[in-house]
This record gives sequence, C-alpha cells and structure tokens, in this order.
Amino acid sequence: MRITAIQEATASIASDIRNAYIDFSKMDVSVVKITTDVVRNGEKVVGYGFNSNGRYGQGGILRERILPRLREAEPEALRDPERDNLDPFRAWDLMMRNEKPGGHGERSVAVGVVDMALWDIVAKIEEKPLHRLLAERYGPGEAESHAFVYAAGGYYYPGKQVEGLQEEMRGYLGLGYDTVKMKIGGASLKEDLKRIEAVIDVLGGDGSRLAVDANGRFDLATAIDYARAMEPYGLRWYEEAGDPLDYALQAVLGEIYPGPMATGENLFSHQDARNLLRYGGLRPDRDILQFDPALSYGLVEYLRTLQVMRQAGWSPRRCIPHGGHQFALSIAAGLGLGGNESYPGIFAPFGGFADDLPIEQGRVALPDIPGIGFEAKGKLMALYESLFTA
Ligand SMILES: [Mg+2]
Repeated sequence: MRITAIQEATASIASDIRNAYIDFSKMDVSVVKITTDVVRNGEKVVGYGFNSNGRYGQGGILRERILPRLREAEPEALRDPERDNLDPFRAWDLMMRNEKPGGHGERSVAVGVVDMALWDIVAKIEEKPLHRLLAERYGPGEAESHAFVYAAGGYYYPGKQVEGLQEEMRGYLGLGYDTVKMKIGGASLKEDLKRIEAVIDVLGGDGSRLAVDANGRFDLATAIDYARAMEPYGLRWYEEAGDPLDYALQAVLGEIYPGPMATGENLFSHQDARNLLRYGGLRPDRDILQFDPALSYGLVEYLRTLQVMRQAGWSPRRCIPHGGHQFALSIAAGLGLGGNESYPGIFAPFGGFADDLPIEQGRVALPDIPGIGFEAKGKLMALYESLFTA
C-alpha cells in the first residue's frame, strides 16, 4: 500500500462566535485529504484531517515542512511492519524530522491535522470504526458504543441578556444534553454570578450539571475571588482559571477550591501535560484534563500523554477532550476516556457528530462505519468535496 496524493486546503469558519477575547470568525481551518492506492468497496481509501477549533489553520507549516517530508518518504518508511497498512507512528517521526524539542503549539496543530487523516485511513483499511480499532489495539479490547458529551456555549454576545443565556441552555437540554458549560470572566464577578445562577435555575437548581470556563484569563487574585464565590454552587467544574502554563496559580487554586477543576486544552504535548501533572496541583480523584488530540500532535502523541497520565496515577476517565469533533469522540469511546466536549451548532461542520445519531441523556452513539465517521456527516463531506474538487 502507498500514499498516492496529499492535498491541503484552507477553509473558513462560518461563525460569529466570540468569547470575551477571541473572534472565531477571524480564524481559519487547515484541511488535508490523503489518498492511497488501497481499494475497499471498489474505491480508493482516502483519509481526512482538520484542525480543531480555537487555533488557526497551519497551511504554512504544512506546506513548508510537514507535508514535503511525507511526500518525499519512501512508501516502505510509512508502512506498518506488522500489518499491510500505514503506520502513523513512523509517519509521525518523519513529520517531526529536523524539528527541535519544546515550543509546542502551531506545529503541533499542523502535525495533528495529518495524524487525523492517517488514522482515518488506518481504520478504513482495516474496515473498522476508529474507536473499535483503538479499543482493540491500545484500549480495553471492546470499545464503548456511546460517550458522554456536554454542550459548551454560553458565550458573551453584545446585547445578550441573562434571558438569552437561559434560552440557549434550554435549547441544549432540548437537544438531549444534560450537562452544559458557559463562559465566565467577560463580565464582573457580580454579573457572572447572576448569569451562573440563571443557568442553574434552568438546570432545576442542580449546579453539578454546569461547568464554567474562564479561558485562562484570570490573575491569581481574580481566580481566587471566583473560586470562593462559586464554591457553594457545587459546579461540575471550574475551567482554565489562569494562564494554561501558570502551574503555580493552578496549584494554589487547588488548595482553595474543593470542587473539580479542568484544564489542558491549551497544552499541546505529553511533556507539557507531564509538567501540568507534576506542578499544577491537580487532583486525580476529581479534576478533568482537556488535552485536544487534534491540536496536540494527534493521536500518536495523545497515546504518549495517556501514558504520562498513567505513570502519574491518573485514569483515562479523567480526560474529556476539548474540541467537539469526531476524532476525539472516537478516541474517547475507544480508549475509555470520560467523554468529549460538544458545541451544538457552533464550529460546524468540523465540530459535531454523526447526522443520524442524536444526543440522548447526555450521551451520543458512534457511527458503525469504517474510519473516524466523517462519511456519516453530510455537510462535512460536502465541504471536503468542495475543497478538493481536483
Ligand atoms: Mg475551554
């Protein structure tokens, strides 16, 4: 088997979403399509990858460094020595050839885009859904048929009042979610507490169904003020209070705030994950790790991150990846993670899951088709086709 073509394109996000600081409509998405000479069901096996939300497309790094290394590789150098298939681990080493350690981010996004497409191919060649392939090779043997998902939203919009926030959250419950997440830190503490209480009302008074996300912008004093004020609500988790690399802030907060905390979506390597676990004071019995495999060098690296976690006494169940895409969902169901983020209607069509599998009681089923499951998403496939017409 061999790779016969690697195509790369940039798509825009048709989104007017913004958190307190970021206008996502300014961001773009890198997409790749990799074609092989392997035929399944009368067609050549192709794999697709894209970058998860929150980071820009990485066309420059892909075109200048990552993709040429793959294109120049001998087919033998990409082949799995034990199977007639691609080997994403060997491909990963090739993609990272001539790259120094450290400074993870941007490059990790570029590699993640390609890694996603490679795993899509690997599973399609084996004619299995990726989650099943992962469970067999690296997980508990049997994949889970469903994964926990929660609805992330609650962004600040100009003119959006508390009623609008409540309406949004009611919409998520109507879609079948039972846990929701909202932004904090874009208003005063007093105003944010009103917003939080309004959403808890929608959740029948149950704060454990609400997570809040500060997007890494608080200084220590503000993070502590919020922690003390929010503690009585018994929230599902308090996410990214301070800068993602400020492990000391996180550690201090962990001594003050007894409820679960979550972080990790802006850490992009197993080394950074290891430092977080070493120095961030996180608690393996309650806290949540949100590393996004698509942004952080792909699944090859995510397996290393899970290994680092295991060595530090953490269960994969503590992982609920950022991003709301099918790649992380497949990994969640295959490797026994705690679930996956979801952005209903936002960041589509890259975000979101199979068209005909609704959310039920906060869980979603995975499509029983080979690969990551993109072919079960009509709008995403239509977008792929429009990007790669040649
Ligand atoms: Mg977040």
